[in-house]
Amino acid sequence: MATAALFALFAAVSVGAQPASAPTVDPEVSAPSSPNAPRYTPDPALRLTTSAIDEIERTRRTLRTPTTFTIPVPGGVVPTAPELLPNSLRDYRGGTHEGIDFPMKTGAPVQAAATGRVSRVDYAYQEWSEPARNAALDNARRLGYTPELILDLIRGRQVWIDHGGGVVTRYAHLSAVAPLQRGDVVEPGQLIGYVGQSGYPEGGPHLHFEIRIGDTYLGAGSRDLNELRATVARAFMP
Ligand SMILES: [Zn+2]
Repeated sequence: MATAALFALFAAVSVGAQPASAPTVDPEVSAPSSPNAPRYTPDPALRLTTSAIDEIERTRRTLRTPTTFTIPVPGGVVPTAPELLPNSLRDYRGGTHEGIDFPMKTGAPVQAAATGRVSRVDYAYQEWSEPARNAALDNARRLGYTPELILDLIRGRQVWIDHGGGVVTRYAHLSAVAPLQRGDVVEPGQLIGYVGQSGYPEGGPHLHFEIRIGDTYLGAGSRDLNELRATVARAFMP
């Protein structure tokens, strides 16, 4: 794997995640409904070349990413709205989205997206308090990025599935988890939990789904919306 290229990619993503000036408003994105709602804005400064996207695709192949993933919520559709895709800015935490969002009702079933082994299941999850959350989000905004510990708390109750070869899927904001244990093997379509809004209730009920690939995530660095949509759609193509 061309580590240097991935490093360059990360550097670009990090820079893009810390805009020095007020971000512009994307006309495609509606205004937030409350002051604490997530604000999704594009980052015009960060545009990676096709070669960087090719690099991600090569990395996927090198890591033997499953050729396809099952949509993790029955009846869900692959999103195309920029605010639901990786890389859209999350101003409320000074960071960048690393997943794919599926808006669904609370309690909707969540299923494994591919065969794998459960590597994390938060059966004893406890919600963090609103004051703690607000303080952490203030801190992240001041820093201009979201530290990993805070990001993990924002993701709330989670299940992670390891597919081997450095590929892990993460299912976040769950309201409950299925009776799973670390090490359990799950098959695509198997129930693993239920949609919720744990970790960041202001975001409303939805499944936040990440496809981690090595140290990065599917779609990382891609700022061209059509290429990003294609990358995400390809991941779910039968
Ligand atoms: Zn999300």
